[in-house]
Amino acid sequence: MISETVAERRAYLEDGLADLGCDRCGALVRVGKRSAQQTSVQWTVRAAGACAALAAAHAAGRPAALVPTCPDLRDSIDRAVRAGRLEVT
Ligand SMILES: [Zn+2]
Repeated sequence: MISETVAERRAYLEDGLADLGCDRCGALVRVGKRSAQQTSVQWTVRAAGACAALAAAHAAGRPAALVPTCPDLRDSIDRAVRAGRLEVT
């Protein structure tokens, strides 16, 4: 059933997420690291507005939801994992 799928997905997204700020633009997002390859990032409207990379993509007509992350945030996530500030769950 669709409603169950949505509920499961929401629980999945809310579980194990950590607040992380982009080192460059300061955008604060919620990040969950599932594996070395898979990272889920939840953007708030404010964070999307603060991030230059997201703002540029938005200005180009691409919805922020289709831009997974900005390159600087990706680096910030990698650094946080290496520093032990973000656990792979
Ligand atoms: Zn950024």
